[in-house]
Amino acid sequence: MKKLLLLGAIAAVLSLPAHAAMNIFATVPEWAALAKEIGGSRVTVFAATTGLQDPHRIDAKPSLIARARSAQLVIATGAELEVGWLPVVLRESGNRDIQPGRPGYFEAVSAVTLLDVPQTADRAHGDVHAAGNPHIQTDPRNLLKVAEALAARMVELDPGEAMAYRSGLQEFSVRWREAIARWEKAGAPLRGLPVVVQHNAFPYLTRWLGLREIATLEPKPGVEPSASHLSGIVARLAREPARMVLRPAYQHDAPSRWVADAAKIPAVALPFTIGGSPAATDLVSLFDDTLRRLLAAAEGR
Ligand SMILES: [Zn+2]
Repeated sequence: MKKLLLLGAIAAVLSLPAHAAMNIFATVPEWAALAKEIGGSRVTVFAATTGLQDPHRIDAKPSLIARARSAQLVIATGAELEVGWLPVVLRESGNRDIQPGRPGYFEAVSAVTLLDVPQTADRAHGDVHAAGNPHIQTDPRNLLKVAEALAARMVELDPGEAMAYRSGLQEFSVRWREAIARWEKAGAPLRGLPVVVQHNAFPYLTRWLGLREIATLEPKPGVEPSASHLSGIVARLAREPARMVLRPAYQHDAPSRWVADAAKIPAVALPFTIGGSPAATDLVSLFDDTLRRLLAAAEGR
């Protein structure tokens, strides 16, 4: 009888429904994609923004709060990128497990070295990068570091699927390292080229590829440039020419176009994240398209 009961218990355990997928809320498309690379069918991912939205300025909509309510893991960029909306979403969600400091809250910047960290944070005059530059996803080497830290967090939250997360990370890392080598080879002609940026969105990208940033159109990150500020930059470019003006796809093109036309150089929109251009449909094509656009501008195509 005892044996039968035991067998019954084992059968009951075995007949439990398949392990439910981990529900992940990512603030931006690149972290949603990275979580999917690691978790595969073990996770369901939701991206709170698209590639054509300004991630600094999002509304804490009820639909986002509803999504956060059922999440087991929130993946944010951090460095105050989401400071204007994510704290509200987390608080209003009423979900204790995803609050900062809990294992269910992960910041990508925790895995990388931030650039442009000011000596003292100065949020005056609308500076949206007061905690350092948050746009770490534009250097693919950062994604490798974030992937490792993220996989470790997913294992911590869902130890029953540890093997799957570790092999997802392993497969991604091998593919990603090969792709980085390919991009670095393709991007060699860009080394040393002087460029202008509209928003300070690309310090990680330009440092990786060896581009030289010689001017930024926004007087402070997140602050629209005035006509006189732009005229000053055009005057500087007459003395010290640049090869192109870069902007992330979510930004309107007026300042870029104005300076590019005056300096007779191309204005280039880079996808910046997945969905930022029609070709940037996943993490690999995001960088394929970024390199393609930079090389086309450098070659005058
Ligand atoms: Zn920014």
